[in-house]
Amino acid sequence: MKKNFGFETLAIHAGQPPDPTTGAVMTPIFQTSTYEQEAVGVHKGFEYSRTANPTRSALEACLTALEAGSYGFAFASGMAATDAVLKLLDPGDHILTMSDLYGGSYRIFQHIYAKYGIQASYVPIDAMDRIQDFIKPETRLVWLESPSNPYLHIIDIGAISDSLKKMADPPLLCVDNTFATPYLQQPLTLGADIVMHSTTKYLGGHSDVVGGALIVADDAIAEQIGFLQNAVGAIQGPMDSFLVLRGIKTLPVRMDRHAENAHQIAHYLQEHPDVSMVYYPGLSSHPQHHIAKKQMRNGGGMISFIHRDGSDAARRFVEAMELFLLAESLGGVESLVEIPAVMTHASTADSTLSIDPALIRLSVGLEAAEDLIRDLERGFQSS
Ligand code: PLP
Repeated sequence: MKKNFGFETLAIHAGQPPDPTTGAVMTPIFQTSTYEQEAVGVHKGFEYSRTANPTRSALEACLTALEAGSYGFAFASGMAATDAVLKLLDPGDHILTMSDLYGGSYRIFQHIYAKYGIQASYVPIDAMDRIQDFIKPETRLVWLESPSNPYLHIIDIGAISDSLKKMADPPLLCVDNTFATPYLQQPLTLGADIVMHSTTKYLGGHSDVVGGALIVADDAIAEQIGFLQNAVGAIQGPMDSFLVLRGIKTLPVRMDRHAENAHQIAHYLQEHPDVSMVYYPGLSSHPQHHIAKKQMRNGGGMISFIHRDGSDAARRFVEAMELFLLAESLGGVESLVEIPAVMTHASTADSTLSIDPALIRLSVGLEAAEDLIRDLERGFQSS
């Protein structure tokens, strides 16, 4: 499909022409593990569904178009996608990442790959503009999240890519684009080599599927990832591929509405006497708001804030809410609330990555903003 279609058009149509055999407008769920061959090695492009499945191929083509890449790969989860990136490395290689990142990414770096001789180090978030100083000769992967999870820091992806590209043999730059989605920011166009997604979140958008994806532009990196996807087999199944594809069709309208609601809520929180700090990249008071404005279409749907009265009050707050459901994950149509230090980021408890126990993270959904604000008020009154 032509790359010069608008994002909204690509979200609905890329990789998804009507089914040629029936005219079905929605991509069929090809629930098959294998495919008949006319003669040995003569087939219609599909041999075995670990290698390729038409529903997954449609999703991969759609994701490729949305991230302005050349190749896409759909995995069983965001962590399975991350695992495939890490398998590009060899023992002795080093990963450079940041001190604010998803707890599961920390866990796979620290508790899985470190065992195989691949060490990670964590650049303090306020030193990210001099990340170059932390690069070692063995650094083969730079792993970024922007906005970061849970503090919603914004990293200047283009500036980091430019500084890495000045090196004789630059490490790979991978960006976890889960919080932003390709509608808000396209890391490949900013110089990243690999974009990673937990499609469980905004891309799926309805809290009904777990999935992951990698999108790349370079032929050689694509060949290695394609080999790993087939050799290791952590693929997205056809039913789940369908659900992600269906979710993506409404991604642009959802992301605009998530951001509108989040703006209203961030302003409300900023004025609230029980809140000591609000982290939302769409607020002009956010320290990297200028980068967010340059790099992202809007501020997104995630907000974190600190309850002024500490961790016990934060716990009472989240337990008193009714519309905001107390749950991990994010990016669905329904609003969620959680305490990262003891929920999504509990796996970082053994680390120097410090998360304030009074930090509350909101995934702002698509409900009426005034209802959400009333629910937050209920939380503050009970805490
Ligand atoms: N990256 C980020 C930023 C996430 O928030 C998550 C999950 O919460 C993941 C990666 C992992 O994705 P999954 O849960 O689909 O394996």
